[in-house]
Amino acid sequence: MVNVWGEYDREMSEEQKLLKESLLSWAEKNLNAERVIKMNQQGYPFPGDVIKGLADLGIIMGVVPPEHGGAGLSWRDQALIADIIGYIDPSIATAAGLMAVETGWGFTIDRYASEEVREKYVKPAIEGKKIIGIASTEPQGGSDVAGIRSTGRKEGDEWILNGEKTFISGVYECKEMGGGYWVIARTEKADKPHKELTSFFVPIDSEGLEITEAYRDAGRGSLSTAGFVMHDVRVHESYILGERGKGFYQTMEGFDNARLLIGASACGVTRRVLEEAGKYVSEREIFGHKLAQYEGISFEFADFYANLEMLKCTYQHVADMQDIRYKEEGMPVRTGRAKTYKPQEIAKWIAILKWKAPHLAKDAADRAMHWLGAAGYTDEYILETAWRGVMSYCVGAEGGENIQKIVIARESLGDVAKPY
Ligand SMILES: Cc1cc2nc3c(=O)[nH]c(=O)nc-3n(C[C@H](O)[C@H](O)[C@H](O)COP(=O)(O)OP(=O)(O)OC[C@H]3O[C@@H](n4cnc5c(N)ncnc54)[C@H](O)[C@@H]3O)c2cc1C
Repeated sequence: MVNVWGEYDREMSEEQKLLKESLLSWAEKNLNAERVIKMNQQGYPFPGDVIKGLADLGIIMGVVPPEHGGAGLSWRDQALIADIIGYIDPSIATAAGLMAVETGWGFTIDRYASEEVREKYVKPAIEGKKIIGIASTEPQGGSDVAGIRSTGRKEGDEWILNGEKTFISGVYECKEMGGGYWVIARTEKADKPHKELTSFFVPIDSEGLEITEAYRDAGRGSLSTAGFVMHDVRVHESYILGERGKGFYQTMEGFDNARLLIGASACGVTRRVLEEAGKYVSEREIFGHKLAQYEGISFEFADFYANLEMLKCTYQHVADMQDIRYKEEGMPVRTGRAKTYKPQEIAKWIAILKWKAPHLAKDAADRAMHWLGAAGYTDEYILETAWRGVMSYCVGAEGGENIQKIVIARESLGDVAKPY
């Protein structure tokens, strides 16, 4: 018996248990290990039936309020869903494409969007008919969001956008299904670069938007990563998300929302890795004993398991903070401050989770491949798919590890730790 869910079932509400059961039974038919491995090898675009299936379960952007077409789930529910999705698909393509990108950013887009953007893009994305996401990273570097070089110039009631975005998740799927991206551009003159940015919703089929060739990523093969160049792309001013000059701060909020779900998904990846490898070491006999009887292996297993349990508590804590924050701010609002927790405090906890959870999943997959020996190095097991997929969140997707450390150091050491 390998129990990677621990006492989780006992902690869940009846609705959450039902949600877990329906997701796992949907996955058994539609997204089993064999299909995940095959999808990862075949490459993008991400299959539409999986997107539709998850949408039909009501879990894409579940946190969006019902009056905007969402399921009105709590962040605690959505984080649990992300955990289960990471367990179902440890290549992390569904977790990235649908949970983190669509849900984290979709929720944030919905929060700041005009009625028109909501109707045309957010609602269809909730129904699995369109793709929405974030296009922040530029060729000169993704970590320095305040240093973005794309520009926006106002002409009448339109904005003209120029610049290049790169390493963007889901561009080819978005092109195929329709949708668009949260794009940040320099629009203002201010005393600080952070105050010069505005967020826009840019439809993928905008005139002047040229999609660039997709990358051949090490993992997450079923989800495309590509970019686009904006040559005088025109968007109506109703496509501004939130307020002029507030783009940096709103984008940080979007990163928090997406990073929370990535952290929870990465916990699901560790769960799946430990389950798969746990079964193997419980059965395989070498030198007359089961591998699990050797402390060299069982202690390593225990180490990962303990860290997984701690990170589960962390994401639950963060999700509860988010629930309080958004309840206090009111939904939907364009400005406002949560009373109980400062946004920076929540950002610190989210940074802890975003740093540690993918790192743990990557290390667990690495060690699990060792426990299986040669078998772990093949696609007979999902371990190498998991290792390659989750690495994307260690190196950069939604912010590299050092960026999370900067946030944690700034909040714990104070301003002295700011490198700039
Ligand atoms: C699979 C994948 C999908 C992605 N999807 C999206 C997407 O949908 N949308 C989007 O906008 N972007 C996306 N990205 C890009 C991601 O946001 C960037 O990779 C990330 O922001 C880092 O930017 P960079 O890769 O340009 O690295 P750089 O910013 O050049 O940083 C390079 C390295 O230096 C570190 N570093 C940077 N600054 C400091 C510092 N001050 N001190 C110490 N170390 C530092 C970084 O952590 C990193 O390890 C994706 C990336 C990947 C891998």
